Amino acid sequence: MAQKRDYYEVLGVSRSAAPEEIKRAYRQAALKYHPDRNKEPGAEEKFKEAAEAYEVLSDAEKRQRYDRFGHAGLSGVGMHDFSGMAVEDIFSVFGDLFGDLFGGGVRRARVDRGVDIQAVVEIDMAEVLTGVKKTLRFERSDFCARCDGQGCEPGTQRRNCPTCGGYGQVERQTSMGFFVTRTVVDCPQCTGRGWLAERPCRDCAGSGRGRRQCEIEIKIPAGIHDGQSIRVPGEGEPGHSGRQRGDLRCLVRLREHKFFHRDGDHLICLLPISFTQAALGAQIDVPTLTGTTPLRVPAGTQHGAVFELPGKGLPNLRNGRRGNQIVQVAVEIPKKLSREQADLLRKFAATEDKSVLPESKGFFEQVKEYLSGESDKKE
Ligand SMILES: [Zn+2]
Ligand SMILES: [Zn+2]
Repeated sequence: MAQKRDYYEVLGVSRSAAPEEIKRAYRQAALKYHPDRNKEPGAEEKFKEAAEAYEVLSDAEKRQRYDRFGHAGLSGVGMHDFSGMAVEDIFSVFGDLFGDLFGGGVRRARVDRGVDIQAVVEIDMAEVLTGVKKTLRFERSDFCARCDGQGCEPGTQRRNCPTCGGYGQVERQTSMGFFVTRTVVDCPQCTGRGWLAERPCRDCAGSGRGRRQCEIEIKIPAGIHDGQSIRVPGEGEPGHSGRQRGDLRCLVRLREHKFFHRDGDHLICLLPISFTQAALGAQIDVPTLTGTTPLRVPAGTQHGAVFELPGKGLPNLRNGRRGNQIVQVAVEIPKKLSREQADLLRKFAATEDKSVLPESKGFFEQVKEYLSGESDKKE
């Protein structure tokens, strides 16, 4: 995954920028990089990057979390997934910021579906092996809890909007010289809903929307990889008219394991063994994801040698077949020897006819010997 840029940098504002300044900076960036106007390669990515930065920096709580913890602070916060969204959808998220600049009528002509949101879930290697159910808790823009999305105080009525007659849209006529264009736009009085509240709901001021905590159980299949997403249909934000919700996209992040590295469906681990085990051979209990398994290391094993434990890796996401565990041997040389061990090794060295340092002397004594040419002959 590409490294995310700093949101302040994306919008070109200082960390202490006031909300108005951030709004202005985003508006400029969005107009500059809008794919309808800017045909340069990468413009759309910049457009989406700016939207993401604005979503965070325009929300006091998200901004505070971002300031304190960086991008990591936003996991589980319930963000729009702009990278996968159509440009018109992004405009409808921050719709009031742009008015009809990019054809409000076009927006309404599309299927009225709510936008997708993204949440992040972290799992560990053992959960990749078995698959796991996780409970996700996050916040999303949803129907107001007090009025259940009705927009009016509980117990009060709503009535048809007299301006649009309940359609939610009106025709606007603009003339430029001889040309008269008609566009369909949201009714300015009811903001496209078609009705007005007798007494607007106290919590949402009549918008029918509010932030809501949600809890969703999600099933993560065995064999999933870091960076893959699971789509949960209908758990995104409600559409403009409330009919069709967007989806929740759940991004899976795999926690590092202290012992195993993943390579596709294989698991790689390093196995430290002593030089005597390497030379003489040994049976060693190797840790696996579920316990240990015995591994026969033959006599004369070299540092860096590789052994495979078939079927001890991770299951394949598609067919469930497990990969292998790949064990790489690291021969360790003892840092300290007892007198007896040192004696034995000296005897061993003598059989090899290899020159070794004599029994330890003081450092300065060794240097003196070396300088006077009395040290052991070097090969
Ligand atoms: Zn309400
Ligand atoms: Zn109306």
